[in-house]
Amino acid sequence: MEDKFNCTCTHSISIRKNVTVSIACPFCRNLYCLVNDEIIKTSTLKPIMEDVSPLKINGEGILESKEFRITGRQQIIYHSSYKNLWSATYKSGEHFQIGESYGTYSIIKEVSAQVSPNKFRNLKVGKEIELAPKHSFYVNGIHEMKELTAEGDFPMPIILQTRCLSIELSNNKFEFAIINIYGDNDLKISSGYFLNFEDFSFKNIRNLNGWI
Ligand SMILES: [Zn+2]
Repeated sequence: MEDKFNCTCTHSISIRKNVTVSIACPFCRNLYCLVNDEIIKTSTLKPIMEDVSPLKINGEGILESKEFRITGRQQIIYHSSYKNLWSATYKSGEHFQIGESYGTYSIIKEVSAQVSPNKFRNLKVGKEIELAPKHSFYVNGIHEMKELTAEGDFPMPIILQTRCLSIELSNNKFEFAIINIYGDNDLKISSGYFLNFEDFSFKNIRNLNGWI
């Protein structure tokens, strides 16, 4: 079920009733947050960097026999790298993210974590850490986020903290985890695994030479 509202730039924006939590106007890049049926402008985002990604909003695909649609993209820029996090929703309403970084693709889901960010602050590249019983990971990168921008519709808040430390971990089972520490006290942990581009059975994506 969809609803609409007018952005301050006068464009009409569709929202998914009871689903959309954050939405960025594709025309003026105003970012809105939906709280208790109220639509509040929180900031104005910078444009997405053109990176010749084959994916796009409203692109579709199939995973584990379930159809999904891409609704939004966060673009996270670190000091020496960047990645796209595409928000996707199955027809059942279940949400996940597709990580895209330099031509590699992954599925990412947030996991609940009741731990203090201090547990992870002093991690170093190469260190081993057990995130869940029998699930050990090695730190393979620690990045400070420089900038975040976004486009589209998201079922979760877009966090535009100025300080975010992103710790990337992986193990020998092709699993990975990402620990994001926002400011002094906020923490988000996500986990995922890598897939090949073909595994998503994408359709309605960009027609770039050599891709489709
Ligand atoms: Zn607008």
